[in-house]
Amino acid sequence: MNVRIKDSEINLIKGDITEQDTDAIVNAANAQLIMGGGVAGAIRRKGGPIIQEECNKIGGTFVGGAVITTGGNLKARYVIHAVGPRMGEGDEDNKLKNATLNSLKLADKHNLKSIAFPAISTGIFGYPINKCAKIMLSTTIEYLKGNSNIKSVNFVLFTQNDFNVFKNTLTELLK
Ligand code: ADP
Repeated sequence: MNVRIKDSEINLIKGDITEQDTDAIVNAANAQLIMGGGVAGAIRRKGGPIIQEECNKIGGTFVGGAVITTGGNLKARYVIHAVGPRMGEGDEDNKLKNATLNSLKLADKHNLKSIAFPAISTGIFGYPINKCAKIMLSTTIEYLKGNSNIKSVNFVLFTQNDFNVFKNTLTELLK
């Protein structure tokens, strides 16, 4: 699914985010920036050890924050490490919104034209996929309506169900 917002587009894709050739892919990171399982594990395996080494130099960030490293051996030149909330810790919705917004701002700050997001916090962190879709998509739509130079924002969903939820939510939000 593909929609236009001003001069930009939002694409929904079912697949593996590590295969994206966008300028940056977003990692569903933790505040310590230690790359374990899920998206982070896949990025570490395909991108090589330099990504974790750069994370170690940065040292960490707040929940809702985002930092940028090289993409190592990935097709993407950069990895933006966005820290989503862990379900149950409190203020999850705001934190997920901030993780999305700070990633988009960081992409613009580095003059990146394309970025790919996973469904942040919906794996190991246990956040519901329908709320994730609503927050990440509405935050992105609002951001692209403002002054952004990003041309495409891809949401890469790992399962057919997650893809369907994002598709229905995006359709609903644009009504
Ligand atoms: P978190 O700790 O923020 O929950 P995870 O990496 O555990 O992050 O999961 C976030 C989402 O990414 C989940 O929906 C998971 O199914 C999905 N996912 C896992 N691996 C990949 C991948 N290679 N590409 C895209 N999405 C992935």
